[in-house]
Amino acid sequence: MTELKIESINVKSVNVPMARPLVTGGGSVTSAPLVLINMEAGGIEGSSYIFCYSPAALSAMSELVQHIAESLKSQAALPNEVFYALRKRFRLLGNQGLVAMACAGIDMALWDIAAKNAGLPLCRLLGAESKSLPAYNSNGLGIIGPAAASNEARELLHSGFGAIKLRLGYPSASEDLAVVKAVHESVGNDILLMIDYNQCLSVTDAKQRMRLLDDTGIYWLEEPTLAEDYSGHHQIRQHCKTAVQIGENCWGPGDMKRALDAGACDYFMADVAKIGGVSGWLQAATLGENYGIRLSSHLYPEISAHLLSATPTAHWLEYVDWAEPILDSSVPPGNGMATPSEIPGNGIVFNSKAIKKYTV
Ligand SMILES: [Mg+2]
Repeated sequence: MTELKIESINVKSVNVPMARPLVTGGGSVTSAPLVLINMEAGGIEGSSYIFCYSPAALSAMSELVQHIAESLKSQAALPNEVFYALRKRFRLLGNQGLVAMACAGIDMALWDIAAKNAGLPLCRLLGAESKSLPAYNSNGLGIIGPAAASNEARELLHSGFGAIKLRLGYPSASEDLAVVKAVHESVGNDILLMIDYNQCLSVTDAKQRMRLLDDTGIYWLEEPTLAEDYSGHHQIRQHCKTAVQIGENCWGPGDMKRALDAGACDYFMADVAKIGGVSGWLQAATLGENYGIRLSSHLYPEISAHLLSATPTAHWLEYVDWAEPILDSSVPPGNGMATPSEIPGNGIVFNSKAIKKYTV
């Protein structure tokens, strides 16, 4: 196989309205601000996107990706080589935040090129079978009160989902409990219910709230306190029976290892853009296996389906439809299971017409 050289890069910013705007304990998300990356090597186009959380970050992220990718022109399109070269290059600035996400976006696009060059879906390039993965519907269910939450919960079970995620962090513990009870009553006890506080409680408040919620059959308790407070999460975990889930805000496999060493969680969920792209995910998958911890995905369902297929301790795929308006590909889960796209690449195929509509 001839070695491909990075030839060009094209970066666009879009702001895509969300079908179900989300109010969380950590702030509101009403649209999906995405930076879209296309890199070309040997006539093969590799695509990826980065979810920026806030439209305020779009132009900075887009420029950063552009600058980094420009500097890679005419270099070999080998994701592993580029991953470690960029880790080294940004050691002084720090491999976190926008820098980490920009590098991950480039990494995902380069893996897309590698998979297309091999004529394989990404999971097969990684040596794995395409697997059918349990997926929960993570759209909607923000902080909208018990009546609206119970209606929305029922709507979210379309196409056979068996699990949904409820955002909590109402002013009082009793309000949190009322919403959990209302949703349970609405969907029945066979539906798994994850709850997510999006880091909004103190450690003491989290312990108090879990006294009320611990016996309600919640499947996992996600980010009850500040993401970087591993010892706080460990204390909460010691205090309650419900499994604690964290990881979406870990910057790279190093943070993941520190969280696991601190006993911060029962389950781990990696965000492909924050954990270091495909290259970082592969390390996270190995850590998950070494620590015997189930690994779920955060956002990015299209590429995460490939990555979870190659993860020995794969757990749940988080399904959101946020990028679907600008994609020609998706992983629509049927009967609550999702499978990676069968076409060569990482599963991300842009719809150029839709991109024009949402370009900012
Ligand atoms: Mg979360």
